[in-house]
Amino acid sequence: MSSFASLGLSEERLHVLKSKGYEEPTLIQQKTIPAILAGTRDIVGQAQTGTGKTAAFGLPIIEHLSEKSGSVQALVLTPTRELAIQVAEEINSLKGDKRLSIVPIYGGQSIDQQLRSLKKGIDVVVGTPGRIIDHLQRRSLSLDRISYLVLDEADEMLNMGFIDEVKEILKRTNPDKRTLLFSATMPPEIMGIAKKYMNEYDVFEVQKGQLTVSLTDQIYFEVSSADKFEALCRIIDIEEDFYGLVFCRTKNDVDAIASHLAERGYDAEGLHGDLSQSQREKILNRFKRKLITVLVATDVAARGIDVQNLTHVINYALPQDPESYVHRIGRTGRAGREGTAITFITPEEYRKLQYIKRSAKTDIRKERLPKVKDVIMAKKIRIRADLGEIIRSRLQDDYRKMAGELLKDYGAEDVLTALLQYSFQEELDEKSYTEIEDAVVDTKGTTRLFVAQGKKDGLTPQKLIGFIKEKCSIRSEKIKQIQILDRFSFVTLPFHEAEILLSQFKKRKKGNGLFISEAKKKRK
Ligand code: ADP
Ligand code: MG
Repeated sequence: MSSFASLGLSEERLHVLKSKGYEEPTLIQQKTIPAILAGTRDIVGQAQTGTGKTAAFGLPIIEHLSEKSGSVQALVLTPTRELAIQVAEEINSLKGDKRLSIVPIYGGQSIDQQLRSLKKGIDVVVGTPGRIIDHLQRRSLSLDRISYLVLDEADEMLNMGFIDEVKEILKRTNPDKRTLLFSATMPPEIMGIAKKYMNEYDVFEVQKGQLTVSLTDQIYFEVSSADKFEALCRIIDIEEDFYGLVFCRTKNDVDAIASHLAERGYDAEGLHGDLSQSQREKILNRFKRKLITVLVATDVAARGIDVQNLTHVINYALPQDPESYVHRIGRTGRAGREGTAITFITPEEYRKLQYIKRSAKTDIRKERLPKVKDVIMAKKIRIRADLGEIIRSRLQDDYRKMAGELLKDYGAEDVLTALLQYSFQEELDEKSYTEIEDAVVDTKGTTRLFVAQGKKDGLTPQKLIGFIKEKCSIRSEKIKQIQILDRFSFVTLPFHEAEILLSQFKKRKKGNGLFISEAKKKRK
């Protein structure tokens, strides 16, 4: 077992890691932290999603940066704004008392606000390529004196077509910086970038196989938005010892669901970004001690929570992207224990779920929600177990006296029946449960597909039909609305066949035959 202390980190950093609850470095952290701390060469680091790559570069960079430098010292490029926010948060949480300003800069956020924080001076900019270029052009950001450039999630950056932007940004940085490239996969294009744009570099790889996800049983339920709350209660009820995180999209949802749960008598609390640090710590502490067993949170608030042996992670709302899905569910089934990840999807979200499944390369099984009967059965079993426990260990004399009196007047079985009825009438009555309608996902519909070839490439309707039939054995009459344009084409297929076809084109590689993706919907 390796320890953070053996990697050359400062006492302060070790302290921060301890308070974050990180017990030992992940494999990629073991490799890159000492190399970045002690060496001077550039670095390429590859390890699967969820293996702590942020800290693998964040920790040593923080150690090396100086306070009050007066200019940007490090730039981290990420493919999406969610990642920019998450990465900035993670690095911030690692800085301890060091006075460094670490700020996410991404498209969609007010540019004025960004201009203000850039003026104040930022040490680490974590940004998406487009917005960084914006600022470079406005001259509100200069990158000519940076010590570090990090290309985070480089494969995603490539997939999303940011390559030109990245090259443009690289050109505007000082040549003597250190470049650190991190990626979950290492397609040849990435090594190409490394060769072309990086100084002498070392490659650190961690082979697949230690992703936390593997021990997690993943299932999904189809429920309409209106039934989600009821569904959540059933899932908690049916478990013997539910101990889990429930993820919502917004802090309003977090508040609403947490208080709704508390009203129903669950040990639930909500966690979101508006809470003060001390409130947050209090809640987390109670969660760790299992005084709270249902913690409702947003993704951002849940970052950095390291609680062991959760039985469940529930995606009350579908995560934004496959990355967050893997992050969220990585919180169960840690340390060799099995956990369950449950995702609620509304019928409209079916396709997004398929996308997450494909990108996260993971199997998510469909299941039916527990029936009211099952919930009641589970409760009866639990009541029996609880009563047994009370009889064995904590019968109180007051009640014994009352029992004696009752037994003078009535038969034992009647007294007991009345007592159960009195205590559990509502809980064990089917009528007190709201029905949940089966949400029907429309898998009968069709999908419009975009084909990256057209007349100019010699594509004809016959050729396209032939190609599609070969890939997903479908009858010709089911292939509809073929439209062959000069450079690209469109075609409509039944949902199921479209999914089969799309799954074969998940890697966006042009050049090997037709390139097919889902056609973009017109904005309403
Ligand atoms: P990646 O970039 O490899 O996908 P992240 O850096 O986003 O992974 O980290 C995934 C999760 O693991 C985060 O919640 C992070 O806080 C947590 N994490 C990172 N390093 C450790 C560690 N050594 N011990 C426990 N949790 C860690
Ligand atoms: Mg990452």
